[in-house]
Amino acid sequence: MQAHNHSHCIDAALETAESLCAKRGTRLTDIRRRVLEMVWQGHKAVKAYDLLDQLSADGISAKPPTVYRALDFLITEGLVHKIESMNAYVGCPHPDDDHVSQFLICDQCEAIQEVNSAALDQALGDAAQSAGFQTNRQTIELHGHCASCRAS
Ligand SMILES: [Zn+2]
Ligand SMILES: [Zn+2]
Ligand SMILES: [Zn+2]
Repeated sequence: MQAHNHSHCIDAALETAESLCAKRGTRLTDIRRRVLEMVWQGHKAVKAYDLLDQLSADGISAKPPTVYRALDFLITEGLVHKIESMNAYVGCPHPDDDHVSQFLICDQCEAIQEVNSAALDQALGDAAQSAGFQTNRQTIELHGHCASCRAS
């Protein structure tokens, strides 16, 4: 991930979340907002138990189900994606667009980049269809090394 002022990313993510929830009539409660903010602390995937630790450091005694419910809400609203291969969560940079995602995961700096290839999605859809397969969940996660790690 290139050097940048990450507080802009966090501000933009929270602002988009507020307006999306307002538009959809869903509630971005304090705990959901706080969990989203913590997921956005960087461009790395965050694990649920790290979120729990940070909440208790904040003086909020949250139980695991509280955090999982908040994450479920954020995933349903498209604000957060789950990285299955890491059992961790990452913020979506464009939750207002309907999209399917593929993830490029750097094993060195752990940065996660979301890409959205419609062509890939189409090809997989076609392959599944011709196999008579009904897809319920699709996970495409590539592990490797990001551009900035490769450059350094
Ligand atoms: Zn950022
Ligand atoms: Zn996304
Ligand atoms: Zn990297």
